[in-house]
Amino acid sequence: MDATPFCPSAQPEMDDASVIGVVQRTEAGPRVAYLQADQKATAEITALAAPLRPTEVMRFAARCEGSACRHFDGQDCKLVTRIVAMLDPVADALPACRIRSDCRWFRQEGRAACLRCPQVVTESNNASDTMRAAAEG
Ligand code: SF4
Repeated sequence: MDATPFCPSAQPEMDDASVIGVVQRTEAGPRVAYLQADQKATAEITALAAPLRPTEVMRFAARCEGSACRHFDGQDCKLVTRIVAMLDPVADALPACRIRSDCRWFRQEGRAACLRCPQVVTESNNASDTMRAAAEG
């Protein structure tokens, strides 16, 4: 079994990519509805996002690329470090998320990551300044 954890804000073309949630628009902002069933990130599925990009509509998990990712410092994912430091929680309890045992964000930041995770949209043209700062570092 591959011990490499999953990035929960991945791109659909990455290794072992699957859809973990669908972004819903709410009055409070975008919120991810997590899927309970495994759904591979197939071309047919990602095409459903058109005319938007798949990462504007869905959240994907895929194998963490480690040092190939600009957010990874060799030990930690600095993206989730910033998310926990800069964003408020948006959930009162752990979302029902099927990748938790393999999620890099959960392994690193625990419950604090999960309580903020539903507001994360991998690509957004409407992100708040705080969200943009957390995303870009
Ligand atoms: S941070 Fe938590 S809720 Fe988000 S993908 Fe990872 S395990 Fe799931």
